[in-house]
Amino acid sequence: MTHTNDFRSDAMQSRYARQTVLKEIGEAGQKKLAAATVVIIGLGALGTNSANFLARAGAGTLRLVDRDVVDWSNLQRQSLFEEEDAARSLPKAEAASRHLKRINAALCYEPIIEDVNSGNIERIVAGASVVVDGLDNFYARALVNQACVKHKIPWIYGACLGTYGIAATIIPGVSACLHCLLPDAGEATTPPLSCETVGVLGPAAGVIAALQSAEALKIMVGNSAATSPYLIHAGLWDNDFSELPAVRVSGCEVCGQHKYGLLESGSRMAAASLCGRDAVQVMPPAAFTMDFDLLRETLGRIFKLEENAYLLKFHVNGMEVMVFHDGRAMIFGTSDPQAALALYGKYIGG
Ligand SMILES: [Zn+2]
Repeated sequence: MTHTNDFRSDAMQSRYARQTVLKEIGEAGQKKLAAATVVIIGLGALGTNSANFLARAGAGTLRLVDRDVVDWSNLQRQSLFEEEDAARSLPKAEAASRHLKRINAALCYEPIIEDVNSGNIERIVAGASVVVDGLDNFYARALVNQACVKHKIPWIYGACLGTYGIAATIIPGVSACLHCLLPDAGEATTPPLSCETVGVLGPAAGVIAALQSAEALKIMVGNSAATSPYLIHAGLWDNDFSELPAVRVSGCEVCGQHKYGLLESGSRMAAASLCGRDAVQVMPPAAFTMDFDLLRETLGRIFKLEENAYLLKFHVNGMEVMVFHDGRAMIFGTSDPQAALALYGKYIGG
């Protein structure tokens, strides 16, 4: 046993050797990393690559948030996921945690299989040292911005489409917030350009995730002053790397006037089409209570159900429906929110 313990303690000593020898991090920085909590919201190409960097670097607690399950089309660019995860429709947050535990077992992982909305975003970012954006839509980013500015949590904006991507570090009260940069983000609907219609080059997302991870490390070791004050643009096919000014707007509604309208908007039955999937998510209001056993029993009388530990699945009218334990559903084979709401009302409730 002593040998095992010695081996493990030697392993712990050497695990971070190439990082603690960096004068920018050192032993003191490594201790701060171990005490830090990073929240990664969205586990697509950006989020999984960031999670991989930050777990290997030794960020003490990783809260991993995603509403979706692993799909075959994810494997081209989303590190951490494997064919088996797609075959089993595993939730991304759970699959990512499982793989990261095999990479660095000493860390604390908090998988959260939820849609980000006004009802849960403040709980999701609570206690974070830094939040990393791996989202695919601007409404959710606007929510993250309001929650992070309100609670003075730094966050790293990142987005990727086609062969280019952008990143910016948002330190509340210091740098421009997302509302300063994109005031209409909260009202934005899914644009005609999406990863489904335009595609995503894996390495472009990798570059943006690497930038985001480095910025997150600077913040976690206590050196926010070293973060970039610019909006960084990286075009990997046309080799265009540039820094654009990110100017803080005086009187900005969010970071100047501290108005957090999106956080206060009430919850209701909501449907939204998902970027990159021929699918709609239906999200019941917070007050909605789901009797999952009853649902399984009633649906089981009319459909052939498939189930894993997180969701049940059935097919109707050429569509595939997945229902999670909290009542949230994803309906594949349609991009029409009204049709999805109608189907939800008919078979699930609400
Ligand atoms: Zn602002």
